[in-house]
Amino acid sequence: MGECLLCLEHTHLLLLGKCDHYCVCYKCALKMRLKMNNKKCPVCKEHLDEILVTSGKQRWAELDVNLLQIYSEGVFYLEESVKAELDTLNALRCRIIHCQHPPFNNVASLKRHYKEEHQKFTCEICSEHKAELFQETKLYSQSQFDRHLLRGDLDEDGNLIMYHPHCKFCNQYFYNTDLFSTHLAKDHFSCHVCKDIRLASPENKKKYENLQYTYFSSYQSLTIHFRRTHFFCEEKECIDKTFVVFQHIQQLESHMARQHGSYYDKQSQKFK
Ligand SMILES: [Zn+2]
Ligand SMILES: [Zn+2]
Ligand SMILES: [Zn+2]
Ligand SMILES: [Zn+2]
Ligand SMILES: [Zn+2]
Ligand SMILES: [Zn+2]
Ligand SMILES: [Zn+2]
Repeated sequence: MGECLLCLEHTHLLLLGKCDHYCVCYKCALKMRLKMNNKKCPVCKEHLDEILVTSGKQRWAELDVNLLQIYSEGVFYLEESVKAELDTLNALRCRIIHCQHPPFNNVASLKRHYKEEHQKFTCEICSEHKAELFQETKLYSQSQFDRHLLRGDLDEDGNLIMYHPHCKFCNQYFYNTDLFSTHLAKDHFSCHVCKDIRLASPENKKKYENLQYTYFSSYQSLTIHFRRTHFFCEEKECIDKTFVVFQHIQQLESHMARQHGSYYDKQSQKFK
């Protein structure tokens, strides 16, 4: 019997690796290995390709390798009772009380059962990113799930604790604002002139930071904004170069004089 260093639960099923630290329960180890792709011992950071799930106290070097039974890739056991417990932990059972359905073979069929028999849903985005097993993933009713996606989750006091930002261009939800920002920066376009304007004053900076800052689906739609809002150089070589746009007419004027030898004719309101 020992305490798991990660979840602090008392368990008699602990893990042993070649560094001889008994400190993590099987559930936490499975989460780390499967969901976070982390095979390191939490104590000494040793990389553990092979682990033994055990209720006893052994030393790795003294194990009889001929007695080890494989449970899953890199996971071994010695005792049949340990295997039975692992099977129970891993069984994909319906969590709705009084449901008598036998365990499912895979997550997809359990999800279908939740939906068809109990009108319950799990969030794919959460289960993909959270370090939790499917058996721990939150179950939502249809209306709770809609609220989760559209408005996010609230705590008891009504404060927003998490939400999935939505990309209106791709019609796709993201797990958190970090992943959403990465997506915006990678797949969409923002106006650097507007950004400079906003960053120029501290009040505006706050606005910019909470992502209300405008993005455009493509460079083409960004150029429409450049023409409407700022001073865009319409010379072909600058159009080809992209992003040649200014905040003030004077900046465009000096650019035109310097780069294209043109000047602004006030009468025709055009560059000549
Ligand atoms: Zn644990
Ligand atoms: Zn260790
Ligand atoms: Zn059920
Ligand atoms: Zn979610
Ligand atoms: Zn997008
Ligand atoms: Zn702009
Ligand atoms: Zn130009």
